[in-house]
Amino acid sequence: MGLDIVHTLPKRGLLIGGEWRQARSGRDFLTLNPATGSPIASIPEAGVEDVDAAVASARRAIDEGAWGRMTGADRARVLRRLADLVERHRERFVELEAIDAGKPLAASRRQDVPAAIDCLAYYSGWADKIHGEVVPARADALTYVTRKPVGVVAAITPWNFPLMNAVWKIAPALAAGCAVVLKPAELTPLSSLLLGELAIEAGLPAGALNILPGFGTVAGQALIEHPGVDKISFTGSPAVGKHIMGVAARDCKHVTLELGGKSPNIVFADADLQAAANASSSGVFFNAGQVCSSGTRIFVQRAVYERFLELFADRASRLKLGDPFDPETTMGPVISEKQRDRVMSYVETGKREGAALIAGGEALDRPGYFIAPTIFADADNLMTIAREEIFGPVATVIPFDEPDAAIRDANDSPFSLAAAVWTRDVTRAHVMADRLRAGTVWINTYGPTDTRLPWGGMGGESGVGRDLGRAALDNYTEQKTVWLQLRA
Ligand code: NAP
Ligand code: MG
Repeated sequence: MGLDIVHTLPKRGLLIGGEWRQARSGRDFLTLNPATGSPIASIPEAGVEDVDAAVASARRAIDEGAWGRMTGADRARVLRRLADLVERHRERFVELEAIDAGKPLAASRRQDVPAAIDCLAYYSGWADKIHGEVVPARADALTYVTRKPVGVVAAITPWNFPLMNAVWKIAPALAAGCAVVLKPAELTPLSSLLLGELAIEAGLPAGALNILPGFGTVAGQALIEHPGVDKISFTGSPAVGKHIMGVAARDCKHVTLELGGKSPNIVFADADLQAAANASSSGVFFNAGQVCSSGTRIFVQRAVYERFLELFADRASRLKLGDPFDPETTMGPVISEKQRDRVMSYVETGKREGAALIAGGEALDRPGYFIAPTIFADADNLMTIAREEIFGPVATVIPFDEPDAAIRDANDSPFSLAAAVWTRDVTRAHVMADRLRAGTVWINTYGPTDTRLPWGGMGGESGVGRDLGRAALDNYTEQKTVWLQLRA
């Protein structure tokens, strides 16, 4: 399924210092198609020595290479060319995400690939607008503040939005003049490798972007421990995020962590219920539920609870689960056998804890890792399925009576990434937006993000720092204060 229509696989290698190499160990690993479980390609597996070489090449690119000598305007041109090349190869990316990550073609045509292009174009626009300011602190001195690149950035990405998450890190880092070592998720390396090919074609100087497919516990671990890395930008699980923060503390590396979510989606009785049901379905089932900001805890006001459940279950039943390459498909598989088993164990937990299973609840009896859209109703916020991130197509619906109870339960979570509110009352909408503990609050919609808007959690299991927007440039630059004494 699929492989025959993927026009060309990208280069399979480690990108180090502008060259494609085999792993020093000579080892390879297989990337699989989650819709079939079959191998797609074998890829060199980066080891500790490859990490050393990549970090050294990144450092050289900044200190001695063409990259460090480029002006902001030069960097802007390279990033713009890269955006244009991704645009030109957009269908290849769509196909690679379909075969490697199980994403329906229409989904990455609409979301992942345009978002990546937009992100590259946006940060290309910033590259020559990163500047400091004169701060007249004293009459007898010229005092000013400049912004310098933080240096070598380790970018570590997950498998759920492989291209998009890589670009969210690479684009602002390169705009700021940093050099990057990217370790894509072992399960989905292909789109990052194509991005590397195009970066070379765009004229990105050697060593500015290095790409190391491989395993988290080997290449990832070596990268986060490496003394030559100045900054770690990570998207992934809370467990690995916390581990990274601990390792980074040894030599005080900069760290940005985009971690998990268990986002509340609150539907008031005065809402447009059909719109709420439709968006709540895509909000929790998009990407087979493998989205950090999935609206997995759906709180519904009692007066409309039964009606909402009907509309929501009806909408979910229209999802077409199947081959990501079939144009009719709206939901693909989850990423792996391990992920399928993990999700199914949560389904068992939900049943055991007494939530009412009103849709789905089973893995499909076919090759690949398909799980039917699953809805638990009559749940409460203390159940395991309402507290832990499942990262699969499982919704937990919880009734509420008073707005204060909805806020209390919504905020009673170790996560803080996103939240949504459905109401026609504008005052209530703003009050809820103010009181919900979440890095992003949507009102009468679920899930949109935009390159221009900062994205990230408010601590805890959702992590710290922001991707996207102007804020992300601060991740990749340091302020430098200069004091020039004019008179003694
Ligand atoms: P993960 O297991 O934490 O993996 C993320 C990345 O970290 C992978 O590249 C992984 O390599 C690597 N890694 C694993 N152990 C490492 C170590 N010891 N040192 C350095 N790197 C290491 O997460 P995942 O299962 O891929 O992704 C799912 C999680 O990501 C969910 O919790 C989800 O909420 C979160 N997520 C958050 C956002 C956001 O924007 N906040 C976006 C997407 C996903 P391997 O591939 O080899 O394991
Ligand atoms: Mg794969």
